[in-house]
Amino acid sequence: MRAAVVRENSDGFVDVKDVTLRPIHNGEALVKMEYCGLCHTDLHVAAGDFGKVPGRIIGHEGVGKVIQIADDVTSLKVGDRVSVAWFYRGCGHCEYCTTGRETLCRNVQNAGFSVDGAMAEECIVAADYAVKVPDGLDPVEATSLTCAGVTTYKGLKVGNTKPGQWVEVVGAGGLGNLSIQFAHNVFGAHVIAVDGNDDKLNAAKEVGAEKTIDFRTTKTAEEIQKNVGGVHTAQITAVSAAAFTDAVNSLRPDGRLVAMALPQGDMALNIAKTVLDGIQVAGSLVGTRQDLAEAFQFGKEGKVKPIVHTRRLDEINDIIQEMKDGKITGRMVVDFSKK
Ligand SMILES: [Zn+2]
Ligand SMILES: [Zn+2]
Repeated sequence: MRAAVVRENSDGFVDVKDVTLRPIHNGEALVKMEYCGLCHTDLHVAAGDFGKVPGRIIGHEGVGKVIQIADDVTSLKVGDRVSVAWFYRGCGHCEYCTTGRETLCRNVQNAGFSVDGAMAEECIVAADYAVKVPDGLDPVEATSLTCAGVTTYKGLKVGNTKPGQWVEVVGAGGLGNLSIQFAHNVFGAHVIAVDGNDDKLNAAKEVGAEKTIDFRTTKTAEEIQKNVGGVHTAQITAVSAAAFTDAVNSLRPDGRLVAMALPQGDMALNIAKTVLDGIQVAGSLVGTRQDLAEAFQFGKEGKVKPIVHTRRLDEINDIIQEMKDGKITGRMVVDFSKK
């Protein structure tokens, strides 16, 4: 079967080649992939940024159908449509796995990095960790909910978002656009979107942002304090360290900053403001199986709709180049039935 694998020299691109998967073990299922989205995290893996993994099959935004299960598997059956996410499997018995915080497991496996991923015609999954994609949810849209969707949904949970509150979404790109949709349509919050790109700010308005701020022309934190008295939570999806510092100053007392993007460097945190205003700062990493099941349900109900386009597997290095050049709006998803 054909798969996209990390090159020997980890130059940031991949080779599409014929690969034979090992037989499935106990607890596993074999999935015939239908679709897999390409994510910036895949580009980091292909470039060896998290450690070199030549020969690894990339991909963690996969959706496909189960074609074989091991004898002991009870959670899946042949024909089920399932997802393959970055959170591929936890150890199942540590402090984090047993208390609803499984993505923080120290022995976690990640699809397309520490185990072979979903950018392939077939993928082996851990049956109890492969979240089912409900009927009625477009499988192409499901690929984006598997990664960006669940990440932003979880971030709003971590921010303790309540109906009627103000949410600042910093960065209105792929992640930010979904964060706005979840905040507005699922959490019932008011959204202020911040970006420096007109197209992204317009798209933010279309999906429910009440206010937009262009950081190129406006002092964001001042504007937010003046207009709404600060936000209850700031959701950071922008890849600039400065955006984090600015967002701290956009919070109201007892506000919570939630960091999802991963820029290099440090953020500045004013100690007096942190203490006197009771500010909280939290990191949020993807989501659990339950978070993903919930995100899928909201997608099925039409409350969130990712922007997706389908492509062929042999175009994958073109897609990588387009992503590096910042030319893509929404997500490029490989359709394995397209030849
Ligand atoms: Zn991803
Ligand atoms: Zn664990």
